Amino acid sequence: MSDTWSKADLHIHSNHSDGLAKIPEIMQHVQDNTDLRVIAITDHNTIEGALFAKSIEDLYDIEVVVGEEISSKSGHVIGLFLEEYIPPGLSVAETISRISEQGGIAMIPHPFSNQGVFGPFGMNAFGSAINDLAFHALEVYNSMPFLVYANKVAAKMFAGGQGIAATGGSDAHVLQGIGKGYTVFRGETAADLRASIDKLETRAEGGNGGLSVALRYAFGIPRIHRQRSLNWERCKVANR
Ligand SMILES: [Zn+2]
Ligand SMILES: [Zn+2]
Repeated sequence: MSDTWSKADLHIHSNHSDGLAKIPEIMQHVQDNTDLRVIAITDHNTIEGALFAKSIEDLYDIEVVVGEEISSKSGHVIGLFLEEYIPPGLSVAETISRISEQGGIAMIPHPFSNQGVFGPFGMNAFGSAINDLAFHALEVYNSMPFLVYANKVAAKMFAGGQGIAATGGSDAHVLQGIGKGYTVFRGETAADLRASIDKLETRAEGGNGGLSVALRYAFGIPRIHRQRSLNWERCKVANR
């Protein structure tokens, strides 16, 4: 068993949905400015950018996981290790089973945010859902600047373990946000990451990057809105 532990950012948006950076810019930035070994591109309701990133990963020293942040009827669900696109608008349970059917990992991002499956007051819903919903991982840490409280709730609800893996992600929509939240896993490769999630040994870490990243977002908001309107069909039911 490997003694090496590595970092993966499992929640990144590109300009294929409402992120501002193009895929090659993201790859170059991660390689030059972070110590991430693996990244997941998780655009809203499309895997187009993720497939593109996967197709050029050989040019860089990082591995890509094909992901999608799917707008289910009652909140966002992220599929990781996907091969096929999953449409928005399905129930959470159906979305999760579509992810599982193709061998992917179902992760609930920002579970207690407004767009989260359980919502800001969803502690009770979470309690019953862990028995009913077959998701594999919970995003215990999301680095978006305004999710401090939602992260605290997620960390507390996760504390019992519950048989699900803990992940962290940045939810970056700008280059500077990438890696501000991440998942620590055993090994170095995407396959190692997957095994580490299956063994429930991953952990979530990060800091939101402080004022500089918050300011990047503040100044980026008009561009993020414009990008969202460019990809309206994908992003209309999405935020974060
Ligand atoms: Zn989201
Ligand atoms: Zn997101």
